[in-house]
Amino acid sequence: AAAQKELSYQAVIDRAYDKFKDLKEGKNADYIKELANVDPNIFGIAIVTAEGKVYSKGDLNQRVSIQSISKVFTLARLIEEQGARVVADKIGVDATGLRFNSIVAVELQKGKEINPLVNPGAIAAVSLIKGNDSLAKWKNILDTHNAFAGTKLKLNMPVYISEAGDNLRNQAIAHLLLAYGRMYFDPVQSTDIYTKQCAINVNAKELAVMAATLANGGVNPITKEKVVSPETCAFTMGIMSTAGLYDDSGQWLYAVGLPAKSGVGGGLIAVCPGKFGIAVISPPLNAAGNSVKAQKAIFDIAKDLGVNPYIVT
Ligand code: GLU
Repeated sequence: AAAQKELSYQAVIDRAYDKFKDLKEGKNADYIKELANVDPNIFGIAIVTAEGKVYSKGDLNQRVSIQSISKVFTLARLIEEQGARVVADKIGVDATGLRFNSIVAVELQKGKEINPLVNPGAIAAVSLIKGNDSLAKWKNILDTHNAFAGTKLKLNMPVYISEAGDNLRNQAIAHLLLAYGRMYFDPVQSTDIYTKQCAINVNAKELAVMAATLANGGVNPITKEKVVSPETCAFTMGIMSTAGLYDDSGQWLYAVGLPAKSGVGGGLIAVCPGKFGIAVISPPLNAAGNSVKAQKAIFDIAKDLGVNPYIVT
């Protein structure tokens, strides 16, 4: 049975890769100038199981900036260190139903009812994370990402510089939150740390290990390090389910049934609790800001593996 399963993970990855490799739909994000220059043909798929087995296909040496997928791991760290209540009370956990960088989402409820997987809540999460100064907070966040990935990740400097020089909208969001008493550290520095976390460079395999750590109750299946608790994973995946794919989150859960998170760099992760984490990288995005090929590939793979937890036969 084990050999059978091994074969099937690789077989379904191969099938999805071949089916979508030549698809030319979507467009790289370009509101962050450097993202427009990323090779749109990068296409990498990886599955890492809760036992630490790795299956992959395509471009695994190519890295892209993690962007919004980082929000998941900073959120997990925040829940782990300060508890789920703090996130619910000081940020919010409901989907906004609006775009990821919506100022209206903040304005509507005076900074309440935002969540840590869209920009306002993610910047608030950074402002809350432990660390007496900006450097300590950044170290906390990078160490967390490294622990989830089981390797030392690096910054994509061109992407960081490009976005740091052009993130007035995120700074405005941070200041608006401050005005409503929902920003817990200096807004300019919090936005800068947030911009840095979005520029962490990852390949599909590293992302899949990060997702697999969530699938494995918070223990990295490769390094065996206990990164966060099983309860923290559950709270984190709850928000991924309702808000992981921007304003298409409902459509995604409806179609696939797995908690997931996308980023405008072209990465997409999904978690099958107890079984595996999957990641796909392909930069061209649809109108909602989600990778076209990554969504299609994970949709097919999840279907082929029969892992929608809501289907009980
Ligand atoms: N750094 C990006 C921003 O703040 C992340 C957006 C994303 O991936 O959704 O606009």
